[in-house]
Amino acid sequence: MKPDRVVVLGCGPAGAAAAITLASHGISPVVIDPRPSVEWEPGEGLPSAANALLRRLGVWPSFQASGHLRSSGFLSCWGSDEPFFRPAMLDPRGASWQLDRPAFNAVLRDAAGTLLTRQVHGVRRDGPRWTVDHLEADFLIDATGRSSALARMLGVPRRVDSRLVGMVALLPDPSPAEAASIVEAVADGWWYASRVPGDRLVVALFTDAAAARSISVDRWNYLLKSTLFVGPRAVLSTPPKIKTVVAGSSALSRCAGPGWLAVGDAACAHDPLSSRGLHDALSGGIAAAEAVALGDLSAIDAYASRVAAEYRAYLDDLAWFYRQENRFTESEFWKARSGQV
Ligand SMILES: Cc1cc2nc3c(=O)[nH]c(=O)nc-3n(C[C@H](O)[C@H](O)[C@H](O)COP(=O)(O)OP(=O)(O)OC[C@H]3O[C@@H](n4cnc5c(N)ncnc54)[C@H](O)[C@@H]3O)c2cc1C
Repeated sequence: MKPDRVVVLGCGPAGAAAAITLASHGISPVVIDPRPSVEWEPGEGLPSAANALLRRLGVWPSFQASGHLRSSGFLSCWGSDEPFFRPAMLDPRGASWQLDRPAFNAVLRDAAGTLLTRQVHGVRRDGPRWTVDHLEADFLIDATGRSSALARMLGVPRRVDSRLVGMVALLPDPSPAEAASIVEAVADGWWYASRVPGDRLVVALFTDAAAARSISVDRWNYLLKSTLFVGPRAVLSTPPKIKTVVAGSSALSRCAGPGWLAVGDAACAHDPLSSRGLHDALSGGIAAAEAVALGDLSAIDAYASRVAAEYRAYLDDLAWFYRQENRFTESEFWKARSGQV
């Protein structure tokens, strides 16, 4: 039966996409997120495949008015010293983007309907009804990102398939007209650089969590200067402030159960090398909400099976990419998968 009262936990891209889609099916959800405002966070590359999703969510005009930059493509140096440039202009789906991430999240948040800014401490289920703090609901959506807070409260295990972290800095951009993003493999993992609005440059080293523990700011600088492409793109005037964030692949052992499901990173989180986190958060939010609106258990099962199958296929693709790089990460990846690190 189609639920009347749906609570969405988390108002990142996945939670917002789910809330907007539910509203389009006549269900006005309550969205809860403890963050009162949207601040900068890593995750600025939006592939062109997301353009159609933003149109479908009805936020395309406000997205276009938010000052995001168009990417000219990817300079990739992966597994050999020969760089490869993949121009964005060859993509028939249109531009891919270098996002103003707070503005991107804010556009989605504004369209998501009623938002309560608070932390959820517990949920209870009595028969078919949920109580979330003092709210009653027929159905819950976990859109809390990698923490998968609801699933955790329900005791659903999360498997971790790699221990990748990103050591990320937001620097002044010495050449803001340079519109290509860069990926460069090195012995310690891989580097990434992309301009973002406001004449700033995101620079990140992605490496294994254990290796990251011994990388100081000075070492990060040294490693950056040793790169062929990312280092020359950046200018370091002052010691950068480096934020270390979890970035590896992980997934819930099941992303739906009686009266709930998970979307976006809460369901499964991807290595940023795949550039699919934001796209999948939007498409997963839409697909999940459509399954919920059908009010049909088999639709929710089908959603969960599809998420699980896509994640398995993604892991195979990712392993292939790391085998091409063939230095550090493949062995770390498989060690992590078999639980050795
Ligand atoms: C270093 C790094 C770089 C990345 N780069 C890219 C990129 O270039 N391109 C790309 O597509 N993807 C990238 N990603 C991935 C992308 O950022 C995520 O896939 C995307 O943000 C997932 O969206 P989400 O809505 O599922 O989760 P999130 O964006 O994590 O949102 C979760 C929301 O839930 C809220 N929340 C948390 N706990 C609770 C709770 N208990 N109750 C209620 N609310 C809660 C949070 O406040 C947050 O607003 C990157 C990720 C990392 C780590």
